[in-house]
Amino acid sequence: MEDKNAMLVSDATFSILSSFASRENATVEDVLALASKLPAVLGGREQPATALAQIVSSKPHETVRPAVAIDQSVSDDTVTCLCCGKSFTMLKRHLKAEHGLSEHEYRTMFGLDEDHLLVAPNYSIRKAEYAKRIGLGKYAREDSPSQGAAPTL
Ligand SMILES: [Zn+2]
Repeated sequence: MEDKNAMLVSDATFSILSSFASRENATVEDVLALASKLPAVLGGREQPATALAQIVSSKPHETVRPAVAIDQSVSDDTVTCLCCGKSFTMLKRHLKAEHGLSEHEYRTMFGLDEDHLLVAPNYSIRKAEYAKRIGLGKYAREDSPSQGAAPTL
């Protein structure tokens, strides 16, 4: 049981590092720095040196890359996880549950901009419109971010 679990963690580490290493602007130093952090994030396992060497030496080639092209990872209705290629309306929960990553770690890993969407655009719009429709918009004045207390009638 223990061995099986260890292998899964190792695979996850390997695939994340591979994706990262495939970025054109990722240096070997970047990969190594990330490698030293990932095991702690993914469950405290050390990455075998041989696997690391393999990743670093494969960097100049295009054999490993993010699951989908970064500029194709966001569509109107879905955002695609660059680690595993699955699509979601929002990534946050998936990243935490499947890859043990915070949004910040995920952005850092793939070099994503601050404004790179991790929630499908239509999903955000729908939520905002729904909120407006049921009356939340009325209270969401710019100068009062959260009106917790209900007005007395
Ligand atoms: Zn994923």
